[in-house]
Amino acid sequence: MKEEILKLIKLQAIDSEIAGFNHAIAKHRTAIANREQAIAEKQEAMTHFRTKIEMLNQKQLETKAEHDEAGARVKDRQNKMMQVQTSREHQALLKEIEENKRLVKETEDRILQFIEQIEQLEKEVATLENLCSGEQQLLAEEIEDVDKEIQRIEEEKQSVLDKRETETSALQGPYLKRYTMLLAKRDGLAVVAVNDSVCQGCYMALPPQQVIEVRKAEKFNLCPTCQRILYYRDNEEAESEQ
Ligand SMILES: [Zn+2]
Repeated sequence: MKEEILKLIKLQAIDSEIAGFNHAIAKHRTAIANREQAIAEKQEAMTHFRTKIEMLNQKQLETKAEHDEAGARVKDRQNKMMQVQTSREHQALLKEIEENKRLVKETEDRILQFIEQIEQLEKEVATLENLCSGEQQLLAEEIEDVDKEIQRIEEEKQSVLDKRETETSALQGPYLKRYTMLLAKRDGLAVVAVNDSVCQGCYMALPPQQVIEVRKAEKFNLCPTCQRILYYRDNEEAESEQ
C-alpha cells in the first residue's frame, strides 16, 4: 500500500506541475486578449465618432443650402423694393428682408458650430488612430514573444506529460480511477498531506485514530470531509518543503 501511495504522491506532484503550466499559458493568452479588447474598444469609438462626423457634415450641407436660399431671398426682395408702388407692399418686403437676414445670420452661426464640432471630433479620431497604431505595433511584438514563451511552456509541459504517462502506467487501475475522479472533482488536488492532524486539502482536523492510520499507510485513507487521499508528512518535512 505504501508503494501505491508514494506513486500517487508523485502523480499529484506531476499533475500540479501540469496545472501550473496550463495556468501560465492561460494567463499569457488572457493578457493578449485584454489588450486586443482595448484596441477593439478604441476602434469602436473611432467608428462612432466617424459616423457622428458624417452626420454633422450632412447637417452642415443642409444648413448651407438654407443659408444660401435665405441670402438669395434677401437679394430678390431688395431688388423688388425698387419697383414697389404702395407702402403696404414696402412694409411687407421690409419684413421679409428682415426675416431672411435673421435666417442668414442664424444659419451662419449654426454652420460655425458644426465646423467646430467636426474639428473637435476629427481631433479625437486622430488621437485614437495614433494610439491604436502604436498599440497594435507593440501588441504584434508582444504576441511574437508570448507565442515563443507559450511554445517553451508547451514543450516543458510535454516532457512532464511523458513522465506522467510512465507514472500512470505503473499504477493499479482502481487507484488511478479514484485519483482521476478526485482530481476532477477537487479542483486538481486529489492527494494531500496530513500535517498537525489537519487535512491540507480542506484544512479540517482529522480524528486522532485516523492520523495514526494515515501514518501507518497500511490502507487507503480518505479525508472524511473532502474525501481526498491522505498521506502523512511530519512537521520537519513540512518545514523543509516551505
Ligand atoms: Zn480534507
